[in-house]
Amino acid sequence: MIDNFEKFHDYIWQNGEMVNPRDAKVSVMSHTMHYGSGFFEGIRAYQTVDGKTAIFRLDEHVDRLFNSARLYYIDVPFEKEVIRQAIIDVVRENKFTNCYIRPLVYVSEGFNTISITDSVKVNVMVSAWQLGKAVETVTLSVSSYRRMMSSQTPMQAKAIGNYMNSMLIRNEAKEKGDTDGIALDMDGYVSEVSTANIFLIKDGVAYTPDMSSSILNGLTRQSAITMLEDKGIKVVERKIARDELYYADEVFITGTASEIKVCTRIDRLEVGNGNYPIATNLAKQFKDVVCGKEEKYLNWLTYVD
Ligand code: PMP
Repeated sequence: MIDNFEKFHDYIWQNGEMVNPRDAKVSVMSHTMHYGSGFFEGIRAYQTVDGKTAIFRLDEHVDRLFNSARLYYIDVPFEKEVIRQAIIDVVRENKFTNCYIRPLVYVSEGFNTISITDSVKVNVMVSAWQLGKAVETVTLSVSSYRRMMSSQTPMQAKAIGNYMNSMLIRNEAKEKGDTDGIALDMDGYVSEVSTANIFLIKDGVAYTPDMSSSILNGLTRQSAITMLEDKGIKVVERKIARDELYYADEVFITGTASEIKVCTRIDRLEVGNGNYPIATNLAKQFKDVVCGKEEKYLNWLTYVD
């Protein structure tokens, strides 16, 4: 596996140094290995129209990483600016034009107690890799696994442990032949897809689960809301009942890895009438925005060189 992994990148940043992935060691006795104590980000860099490379919403991703750790009372042992620069350096040093970037905060010691004390060592690494070709559209099914609620675990933290739930949701959907699963929240309202947010369109209005629906407030979600509103489309954030999914005109998902993808089928039912003008247009516009084709959203990009 590691050989395969090496093809994708030569350098990762670990605690202040650029190292070869083979030399970036983590102990099997680390707290993170035993209890899943860690936080990560998924960020993307794109080749822009002028032949440069730019990272999408870098500062917001760095803020979210620090906020994730904060919700667990963990201090990231580097300034935000250092992590921000590390992310840029990893893209540049690996000579990537398009890539997925993975900063990760983890705890390398303290396996023998669940509580995290001031004496344990918090580490940061930043890795990146090229993504394969993505699907054009998605099919979804409602998962039998619910999303956790904030009274159980902070849902605004992009914490490693939360992804055990995402993994079950995705696996179950794949077994049914779908791209991904939609998790309901603990009250049975629509929450989110395993690693993406969900929107639906009904009579020209966009709806997406609100912050109390156990969602991660995705940066692609926030970008989509801005782009829709800038086009004059009303966006309503509210509780969404499961059956609203089945009579929506359009459904789409948003996420860093997914980007914006039209959903054509939910629980074996075709979405709407098979025509998805708003979602298709938004997905296309998003591809232009991340490549720097839209002047209006250039402030979402951080150029690497
Ligand atoms: N929800 C979950 C659980 C996720 O893992 C992600 C991916 N980070 C998202 C939503 C979408 O967030 P973003 O648009 O910031 O990638």
